[in-house]
Amino acid sequence: MGLIVQKFGGTSVANLERIREVANRALKAQQKGNQVVVVVSAMAGETNRLIKLALEITELPDLREYDALISTGENVSAALLAITINRMGGKAHSLTAYQVPIYVEDSFKDARIKKIETQKIRKLLKAGYIVIVTGFQGIDEEGNVHTLGRGGSDTSAVALSAALKADLCEIYTDVDGIYTTDPNICPEARKIEWISYEEIMEMASAGAKVLHIRSVEIAKNYGVKLAVLSSFENLPGTIVGEGGEKMEKTIVSAVTYDKNEAKITIPRVPDRPGIAAMIFKPLGEANIVVDMIVQNASEQGYTDITFTVRKEDLARAKKITEEVAKKLGGREITTDPNIAKLSIVGVGMRTASGVAAKMFDTLAKAGINIQMISTSEIKISCVIEDKFTELAVRELHSAFELAKKPSRKKQK
Ligand code: ADP
Ligand code: ASP
Ligand code: MG
Repeated sequence: MGLIVQKFGGTSVANLERIREVANRALKAQQKGNQVVVVVSAMAGETNRLIKLALEITELPDLREYDALISTGENVSAALLAITINRMGGKAHSLTAYQVPIYVEDSFKDARIKKIETQKIRKLLKAGYIVIVTGFQGIDEEGNVHTLGRGGSDTSAVALSAALKADLCEIYTDVDGIYTTDPNICPEARKIEWISYEEIMEMASAGAKVLHIRSVEIAKNYGVKLAVLSSFENLPGTIVGEGGEKMEKTIVSAVTYDKNEAKITIPRVPDRPGIAAMIFKPLGEANIVVDMIVQNASEQGYTDITFTVRKEDLARAKKITEEVAKKLGGREITTDPNIAKLSIVGVGMRTASGVAAKMFDTLAKAGINIQMISTSEIKISCVIEDKFTELAVRELHSAFELAKKPSRKKQK
């Protein structure tokens, strides 16, 4: 007998029929003798619908009310699932983050989980209930609702697994595991049976939305065993775990893309100490995550600075950057939302040479211009025009021969 946390994403709870399937899975896991906690996302499309409503009123909604609004989709699916399980003869009890409670740091739209009280959940589990918890939400000390960032229900599930010391955290979604690239845009994509925390973390940070990046960070830090599975079929999924002898010894193990970023350029910034801090400090204070930054070579004491932010933060970032640019001499800033970040990821890149050259060459041969580049130890990312995303993903997947199953070798 163990404790299992099962997380179901938007498409897995998209309608009442899908919710019945979820109820069946949870009941089956309980009948096998497990204690079961289910974490749910909002029904497919619901969070987007709520965001759109707020943005129809204003481009810059009050963040407290924005989070109060966009967190409600999860309440609906949690209660609908509880009603379904009870109707099917089981015992279920839904809890919002406020009721658990799940405490987060005071930061709207992208809050980090600080602490989860587990007494209420444990009591309900002991009494034989399937406990259903709303994903994506947390509360601060004052009881204000915060959201965890888009895709954040994965993080709710893993954080709950860590707090409850669950034996397994199952992430049910609309694909049957983690692939070498998004199987929805590259039919050649191959399912990875086993992946290290480190690699999936880089993939998630590079935009592979199959897992929310912070969910993997928490899983790694607390040793939570993760399985990514399909809620539509009964197939073996992907196991995410600690590195070791099972590590697939390839140079590049995945291609990812992210269409969720936008580019801002401030032209002719004085090239002297303190300017970068002047630009990026107010963005940080506004909780805007800046991803890639490129500064051009200085010409006559001036330089251009280009950086990327998430599309949803573009309006706020633009306003803040315009104010800074004004202080720097009234330069017109430019923004471009039509970009995509394309990345190749692999632990083997640490020791291999020529990987970046091969990536750039592949893109050049496909006629795709690279606008920005950034690298980490096990990842190379390029910003390109977004209309080329699918083509670029397929070309890179093929250039790095990812469809072929790598041999499994012992890591030294
Ligand atoms: P959920 O609503 O269940 O959380 P998401 O849409 O957030 O589901 O994540 C699943 C999606 O992630 C898949 O439908 C797929 O398009 C996308 N995806 C991107 N990269 C990958 C990858 N490498 N492997 C599997 N899925 C991926
Ligand atoms: N419903 C939220 C979103 O759409 C959280 C999630 O799906 O994980 O981003
Ligand atoms: Mg998701």
